[in-house]
Amino acid sequence: MVKSKIVYKPRELTFKEKRMIVKAHKVLFSDDKEPEMWEHYCEEEETEMAVGKGEPCNWCGKEEKDCESCS
Ligand SMILES: [Zn+2]
Repeated sequence: MVKSKIVYKPRELTFKEKRMIVKAHKVLFSDDKEPEMWEHYCEEEETEMAVGKGEPCNWCGKEEKDCESCS
């Protein structure tokens, strides 16, 4: 399957894989603690993106503090 638009992604993890990690965290550590991830609507990927706490988004470069009004 060839896409007409090639997008370079610096990370191997896809959004779905990251989402699965978030869900796995919720299942494995099913206490009141939030997983160490933050989410935002990523304009680069045109979808919600979960990013590790303290890390900038690898796609659009936003950080959690840049996105306080996103959610
Ligand atoms: Zn982003």
